[in-house]
Amino acid sequence: MDRQQILDLYDWALGVCFRHPSKGEVPTAVVGVIHPQACGEREVRGCADCVIAMEDIRREEAARAGSEYQPGRVGEAAG
Ligand SMILES: [Zn+2]
Repeated sequence: MDRQQILDLYDWALGVCFRHPSKGEVPTAVVGVIHPQACGEREVRGCADCVIAMEDIRREEAARAGSEYQPGRVGEAAG
């Protein structure tokens, strides 16, 4: 699976990457949800580079754990 195929699994919208706020508004996907005090849920958005980096980590973790790697689920990883 190449980079573009992985990126195609996500819904993209303009936003500010949590790791690269200096880039300003770029295409981002939801990579997590945080729960700030008293204001419900807030989405954490990441740019393409960050999504790919997180997918790489998940793939390595799955390989180490002997479980099946399923791309496209970075935003669903709870905790
Ligand atoms: Zn980023």
